[in-house]
Amino acid sequence: MAYDDSNIFARILRGEIPCAKIYEDEFALAFSDIRPQAPTHILVIPKGQYISAADFNAQASDEELAGFYRALAYVAREAGVEESGYRLISNAGPDSHQEVPHFHVHILAGQKLGRMLGPPL
Ligand code: 5GP
Repeated sequence: MAYDDSNIFARILRGEIPCAKIYEDEFALAFSDIRPQAPTHILVIPKGQYISAADFNAQASDEELAGFYRALAYVAREAGVEESGYRLISNAGPDSHQEVPHFHVHILAGQKLGRMLGPPL
């Protein structure tokens, strides 16, 4: 599957659509999810054009990989949720209901997050 650069996160990266930015560096952008599912719901995305974790981990340079994952840890730390705990989720493909085909990691925190999976839709 080819990367579709009309997806919403590509448009946010190009500055065509606003976002509530939390952190940005050379490798990553973090912003609040528009439909938060927990008191803290942050999306962290790489700057490069990757569809999924598998695509990113297979295709990105070592520098991009390190930069992205360091940014992810930094954002979680700065959000102040390390002590109370948080959950990282990255959906990929139809069974996961991935909505936006640009690799992203959700940081969810700020309440008891319950079981890892709810009932199937
Ligand atoms: P996915 O289901 O692909 O893992 O998650 C996509 C996430 O992107 C959803 O949680 C959804 O609320 C969020 N989202 C979709 N469109 C926008 C948008 O325009 N801005 C922001 N900040 N989040 C969005």
